[in-house]
Amino acid sequence: MKKIFTLAAFFGLAYGASSCFEPSIEESVADGHIHSAARIGDEDDDHKKDRSCATMEVLAEKLQEDPELAEKLKEIDKHADKFASKNGRISAAAAYTGTVTIPVVINIIYNSAKPQENISDAQIASQMNVLNADFNATNADRGQTPSAFAAAINGSGFDVQFTLSKVVRKASTKTSWGTRDAMKKSRNGGIEPTDPARNLNIWVCNIGGGILGYAQFPGGNLSTDGVVISPQYFGTTGYVAAPFNKGRTATHEVGHWLNLRHIWGDGGCGIDDYVSDTPDSDAPNYGCPAFPTVKCGNTLMTMNYMDYTDDACMYMFTNGQKARSRALFNSGGARSSFVPVQ
Ligand SMILES: [Zn+2]
Repeated sequence: MKKIFTLAAFFGLAYGASSCFEPSIEESVADGHIHSAARIGDEDDDHKKDRSCATMEVLAEKLQEDPELAEKLKEIDKHADKFASKNGRISAAAAYTGTVTIPVVINIIYNSAKPQENISDAQIASQMNVLNADFNATNADRGQTPSAFAAAINGSGFDVQFTLSKVVRKASTKTSWGTRDAMKKSRNGGIEPTDPARNLNIWVCNIGGGILGYAQFPGGNLSTDGVVISPQYFGTTGYVAAPFNKGRTATHEVGHWLNLRHIWGDGGCGIDDYVSDTPDSDAPNYGCPAFPTVKCGNTLMTMNYMDYTDDACMYMFTNGQKARSRALFNSGGARSSFVPVQ
């Protein structure tokens, strides 16, 4: 999507969008069914098939709480632009070109009455495998990408390796955790992040409100840095629920953690996702859309991980998305603490 609107205009829209979406943080989960009244795109409580990610709503809240955050994000975007050329290649100057190793800490908080939320090591391993495949473009389904996107598809991967650092488990009486970062604070019964400047912390706990997951963008407070995912949408085996049982919620949320925006830019036609090789769109796509799907005069890239489609129907990033994410690890980048000093 081409960059047309300013960041300020984008944030204005993000604020506007957040005001009409206020998931209850105390909703309970019964019989494995999540109450979904607050869920975007749902037609009724029996229809629970649409992806819902709370990352932009959480960002809007954090921008209100921290007046300096908008400026920090703008600086990170400027830094990304410096390294990303139009076709997604990374500038040679001060770029980190090695493999980025990202140690992952899995923080599991489960309801004592729902032991299935205390997911198995096998379920964790299955999610690690998906992250490594998707971010390195070794996922088998990427071959389904239409030839129309042959130039944009990132074929070589982000060259990042996610390694399991440790698993922390904690029992709780809470049934859902909401989107206000309570799961990241021990005083709220949560688990504090482990060295977030050098680890990707993932909290696996039931969020509630039909939310599959949410992430914090780079530039935010380190004490809440990381990704949150509900256990039934994490990994590919064990306590998982179709159609979000292929580990793509984590791919999407870690994409945000790596500074990627939703592919439609969280606004109408012309609103930017700060990546030049993703087609402009005005809304998320759900389910498994037919190809071609056309909006804003473009054939949409509904199979991009940063859309809202089902796990089986998203399987690619673009070169521009790779360049934007990799810039975080270059000299002066917001996540350069993960790589050797350059
Ligand atoms: Zn999202």
